Amino acid sequence: MAAKAAAPVLAAAAASAASAAPRNDAPRPPDAAAWCRQVSSFLVDLTAARCQQAALLPGDGRSVRGVPLWFRDVRPAAPPRLRVLVLGGIHGDEMASVNVVFDWLDRAVKAADPGIHWRMVPLVNPDGLMRKPSTRVNARGVDLNRNFPTPEWERAAQAYWASRTGKDPRRFPGPSAMSEPETRWVQAQVDQFKPHLIVSVHAPYGVLDFDGPPPPPEKLGSLHLDQVGIYPGSLGNYGGVVRRVPVVTLELRNARQVSGNEMAAMWTDLRGWIDRRREQMAQSQPLDRPAR
Ligand SMILES: [Zn+2]
Repeated sequence: MAAKAAAPVLAAAAASAASAAPRNDAPRPPDAAAWCRQVSSFLVDLTAARCQQAALLPGDGRSVRGVPLWFRDVRPAAPPRLRVLVLGGIHGDEMASVNVVFDWLDRAVKAADPGIHWRMVPLVNPDGLMRKPSTRVNARGVDLNRNFPTPEWERAAQAYWASRTGKDPRRFPGPSAMSEPETRWVQAQVDQFKPHLIVSVHAPYGVLDFDGPPPPPEKLGSLHLDQVGIYPGSLGNYGGVVRRVPVVTLELRNARQVSGNEMAAMWTDLRGWIDRRREQMAQSQPLDRPAR
């Protein structure tokens, strides 16, 4: 009897503790199933089940709205020669880029390369994706791909935004470099993971861009190299020029969808290019974060 009587008391205490514990503005504990349900509802080619099979872990960074930045490391048993950071969804309305990173994560797991440690981050800007409609910018209206600390950011990024984009709100570089938690987290990956190569997936311009030391890939799948120049505050500029880590930037042809054949072809070409440049990249030394 005593045990029976105690049960409702414990349940009530637990309920009261649960309702008292999280404040409204406290970060929610990471919940992969909930995140996968949400993300997959915005993507045409990713089911929640497949998202969960990717076995992502919550990174130590969060978006403006407190959504964890999920990632997965695919690492060989022996110490790898190369570390490769793959980023999707820096712009929230480029859904196909998220699909590509999930697809490549599967391929990296299945065809484990004993020399490569992959860090796959499918969605850097969850707040932008999880809006209706999804937005390029993050929850504070910042274009994350203009928020990296490139030289003279204060002058160059703001001036570029004003004169070249006519203050396009989709391309606002932010109040200051690194003002956004998502950008700071990517920078922390460069500092801590120390990638030899960064692959950044975007859409929909249908080209391949490259910044950094070794000779670039000529094509990935149907995307051909067209080095468009550097933008103040972009990851290509920051990674490739400031930190001397090569950055491959893919601009898919379509922001909503990319075919399985194209994802496979891009992966094959990327792997082939890495194989040809493997030694050169493995010996390269990224530069430290410049003092500001
Ligand atoms: Zn983009």
